[in-house]
Amino acid sequence: LKFESLKCGKVAGEMDTEKGIDVANKSILDFHGIDERLIRKMEFDALVWSSLHGLVVGDRNFQRSGQVPGVGMVHAPIALLPMSFPKSHWKQACELAPIFNELIDRVSLDGKFLQDSLSRTKKVDAFTSRLLDIHSKMLEMNKKEEIRLALHRADYMLDEKTKLLLQIELNTISSSFPGLGCLVTELHRTLLNEYGEDLGLDSKRIPSNTAVGQFSEALAKAWTEYNNPRAVALVVVQTEERNIKMLHNTHNVRTVRKTLAEIDREGQLLPDGTLLVDGQAIAVIYFRAGYAPTDYPSESEWRARLLMEQSSAIKCPSISYHLAGSKKIQQELAKPNMLERFLENKEDIVKLRKCFAGLWSLDDLDIIRKAIDKPELFVMKPQREGGGNNIYGNDVKETLLQLQKEGSEEDAAYILMQRIFPTVSPTILMRDGICHKEHAISELGIYSAYLRNNEKVIMNDQCGYLMRTKIASSNEVWEINQGSSTLQTT
Ligand code: ADP
Ligand code: MG
Ligand code: MG
Repeated sequence: LKFESLKCGKVAGEMDTEKGIDVANKSILDFHGIDERLIRKMEFDALVWSSLHGLVVGDRNFQRSGQVPGVGMVHAPIALLPMSFPKSHWKQACELAPIFNELIDRVSLDGKFLQDSLSRTKKVDAFTSRLLDIHSKMLEMNKKEEIRLALHRADYMLDEKTKLLLQIELNTISSSFPGLGCLVTELHRTLLNEYGEDLGLDSKRIPSNTAVGQFSEALAKAWTEYNNPRAVALVVVQTEERNIKMLHNTHNVRTVRKTLAEIDREGQLLPDGTLLVDGQAIAVIYFRAGYAPTDYPSESEWRARLLMEQSSAIKCPSISYHLAGSKKIQQELAKPNMLERFLENKEDIVKLRKCFAGLWSLDDLDIIRKAIDKPELFVMKPQREGGGNNIYGNDVKETLLQLQKEGSEEDAAYILMQRIFPTVSPTILMRDGICHKEHAISELGIYSAYLRNNEKVIMNDQCGYLMRTKIASSNEVWEINQGSSTLQTT
């Protein structure tokens, strides 16, 4: 990421960075105009840098790469140079972070709102239904989460026509890639320090990226709040984990890594609520896994999730936070007067609402008609995380027609969202050691951390960013991400 108004090669005009309104054509940086020899040099440097600094991921071509960290590594697929982004919209996204943190916290405390909003979805979506069952059990037990830790990533796209920063979604579970994102920032800075003059790009315009440090700090502070010096942090991992960046950096807090199946085998709840795993008390649980149905292949994994939820360990996220981050809740919160139910500050409400794209539930017949008529203007989303689940274009029309024909309640599994069209810009993407010139669009992710103990808010901060870039023609699966990869993302 880089703030606009940096110039290179064929820039026709300069951005008004403060107002951030002048995004149209004239500020496009034509990375495709860069001299081939210079690209080869930067490509080589970027590959060496990535290898030396651990900007790497497990290579799917190597079967063992998912099991043995350090075996079969490949550089992370990245954009060779930073994308520019108007400063005003960047600031807007950063300012939203603490407000969204507070909103999600308030929503998480309203068990009835979560259950009611998801009640129709529950009937047709087995996965959401299981999560809601755990949530119901906690409500019945009157379980209170006094210490609440959130590590979020809110994702935005800048709509080209309206110049509005619109939220794609807010991830409350397993927000991916703070580690890779920070490294890409460093790599870009290194490249611009070396070649910036030739390119007409200034490395100082790259904002600093502190996601990793602040996330670890939040985890460490949560551990301190738990106040058991012998307890450790538990990272719930998938059986195959190719994003090894998620597996370290926890600020001197001792960490154990377990799959859900292992937690089921080795976990135990003491009468006082302490969770023991393999005999060790757990202070904080970070879910790197657990957001997708495939993470729960048997009852064993669900037992583990329930066991953890019942415990006094600090869960990142708790079941309420997990549900509060669902697409259905995002859509419910966008309804008129909904934010007012959770927040008092009028200005905050206005700021949040401004970044809401059109969101609808499928019982809105008017919008269904519009979506069948112009499916390209909509995205249809089920209650899933991890990418690759949404429906686009003509498939929207066909799915809606099919649902109408069946007349069942299956429609409750989805929401409809206004499709956002960000500016397409020429980009150089690097994958498998080779640079490609592509036309790409970007999505800005803003990380944030929230930690509170009862009434005391200990942390509520924006924490760095992730700029993901994908080929413009690809609907979703991020072909290449700046600071990320085709690894599962949430
Ligand atoms: P997930 O939780 O699976 O990441 P998202 O809601 O983030 O689900 O959707 C995945 C991807 O789909 C996004 O990263 C973005 O590329 C694309 N997408 C989602 N919503 C929209 C939208 N309203 N307009 C355009 N693209 C979208
Ligand atoms: Mg998500
Ligand atoms: Mg997403």
